Amino acid sequence: MPELPEVETVRKTLKKLVLHKTIDQVTIHWPKIIKNPVEVEQFIDALKGETIVDVGRRGKFLIIYTETFALVSHLRMEGRYGLHPGDEPYDKHTHVIFHFTDGTELRYRDVRKFGTMHLYKKGDEFNYPPLIALGPEPFSEEFTVEYLTEKLRKTNRKVKPALLDQNLLVGLGNIYVDEALFRAGIHPERIASSLTEPEITGLHREIVATLSEAVKKGGSTIRSYVNSQGEIGMFQLELYAYGRQGEECKRCGRPLEKIKVGGRGTHFCPNCQKV
Ligand code: ZN
Repeated sequence: MPELPEVETVRKTLKKLVLHKTIDQVTIHWPKIIKNPVEVEQFIDALKGETIVDVGRRGKFLIIYTETFALVSHLRMEGRYGLHPGDEPYDKHTHVIFHFTDGTELRYRDVRKFGTMHLYKKGDEFNYPPLIALGPEPFSEEFTVEYLTEKLRKTNRKVKPALLDQNLLVGLGNIYVDEALFRAGIHPERIASSLTEPEITGLHREIVATLSEAVKKGGSTIRSYVNSQGEIGMFQLELYAYGRQGEECKRCGRPLEKIKVGGRGTHFCPNCQKV
């Protein structure tokens, strides 16, 4: 699943591709992707004639803004956007097509069909699911050491599942949570409320640093990540923990291990991240 850095890369490239384009028609081949409004006809009618004025992001959600509406889109496992000439053929995995007045099309392709789209009047998007309950952005002023301390102290969960909870903090997924915990020297199975003040300070610092380095590099290449311009494998973030089980720890040289924490494959160094 794309994490904050990957979604940020998609946002930037998508914005370059579709800004100022006007929607002439919308075709929907798999209505279940549209979660709001309930009637897909309303979704289609609302967007006809609208011009795209911005593409934003909240956590792992993209927000495509037109003059009147906010389209909140989550790519989940396999969702991809691409801009194509209208006469180019498309396959059975293309579920939503935004036809522009200039003859090009923004196509949403999703092999597993887990992606979602919610359309709201602009300004309402933050007052309803899926954005309403989200925690702070990692680069925002709200995400302070004090905030993280308060949230972690209140939970009896292990630290990894706590950090994956998008209501606590948005943006971290399985890759970057393993990286941040490695860099902070914290075992992923530690009970969140047992973390000391210096540990939380270090964790806060490493979450922000890991994500901002990844954003600068355009997201990781794990799972053959392709951005919305079809660029693949052009970014390389140096990973310390994720996917490196059995390989030498870059800090101490001992082999990294992989375990399951909260049902998720978790990579860590048993020497550098003690229980
Ligand atoms: Zn180590």
